[in-house]
Amino acid sequence: MTNRFSFSLKATDGRARTGTISTPRGEVRTPAFMPVGTAATVKAMLPESVRDTGADILLGNTYHLMLRPTAERIARLGGLHDFMNWQRPILTDSGGFQVMSLADLRKLDERGVTFKSHIDGSRHELTPERSMEIQRLLGSDIVMCFDECPSLPADESRVADSMRLSMRWAERSRAAFGDRPGHALFGIQQGGVTPELREESAKALTDIGFDGYAVGGLAVGEGQEAMFGVLDYAPEMLPHDKPRYLMGVGKPDDIVGAVARGIDMMDCVLPSRSGRTGQAWTRRGQVNIKNARHQDDPRPLDESCGCPACRSYSRAYLHHVFRAGEMISGMLLTWHNLHYYQDLMQGLRDAIAAGRLEAFTDEFHALRAEGDIERL
Ligand SMILES: [Zn+2]
Repeated sequence: MTNRFSFSLKATDGRARTGTISTPRGEVRTPAFMPVGTAATVKAMLPESVRDTGADILLGNTYHLMLRPTAERIARLGGLHDFMNWQRPILTDSGGFQVMSLADLRKLDERGVTFKSHIDGSRHELTPERSMEIQRLLGSDIVMCFDECPSLPADESRVADSMRLSMRWAERSRAAFGDRPGHALFGIQQGGVTPELREESAKALTDIGFDGYAVGGLAVGEGQEAMFGVLDYAPEMLPHDKPRYLMGVGKPDDIVGAVARGIDMMDCVLPSRSGRTGQAWTRRGQVNIKNARHQDDPRPLDESCGCPACRSYSRAYLHHVFRAGEMISGMLLTWHNLHYYQDLMQGLRDAIAAGRLEAFTDEFHALRAEGDIERL
């Protein structure tokens, strides 16, 4: 166990990388998928079950936690790890993105953002300094810079102004974070879909110096083709020896494409959220368990999957409990989806280490193209 934060690359295959992030709370194998524990829980899952799926690290949301139960209360109760019973690494976002998407009556200026809580209408302020304070109170292992990002498509001058504001905030975040051995601060590259702006942002961030770098401002409505277009050049602008994080991504094929383009970390609510709406992700694509075709089907969701939903339950049962509105439906499908995502990450790590990522990717797409198993 280390008392410092570090990143070591083990192997590369094309632009794809595999390695290890070491923290005092444990190691994170990369490329890594981080399940989202929005309100100090990965919905419908016990923390030990999340770990059983293969997750090394969780993501917590600053915006949600600052409003309820508040960062100060979590700090008094021993920090987020103890509070939610997850002793492994936690990454927290800065709150900036969710303020913009969830809060009411936002006002943005050079200092930060003031807004009204979507829960009770109370007034709050988030600045780079306050975001660093909240993430410190939570005890986050990987802290994200406070930034601002426009939805795409957006006017290029708006993207440029926003990126430059985010770079000034990155400098303030760095200063406010201070020196905290064992904890990491990541900068966030912005610049939309304009290479010159991405380059300017990468240079500003590397001049400040961070422990890792996110490719920000993607997965905000631009579509996969445009996202991959940016990922074809943006990650390479960031330091090779530091982890690269793509925020809020994504679907399994987004993940495979992003990893092939040099991304080391990702997070998304998709596997847990879709588990609660009857959607399962398998090697053969998406399965809608609501569909009547499953109601007499004694076969598992995916016979090659080792998760509890696939080991011990039939499609017919999963269909029934979803239709009956039983809680176990969300629990089992979330477990399966998180397990599938972590299996996919392990497959990617192994393929990169063996220098066979292209073959892995071909198999991944071929199986999905076949679609779900034939109905009985
Ligand atoms: Zn399964």
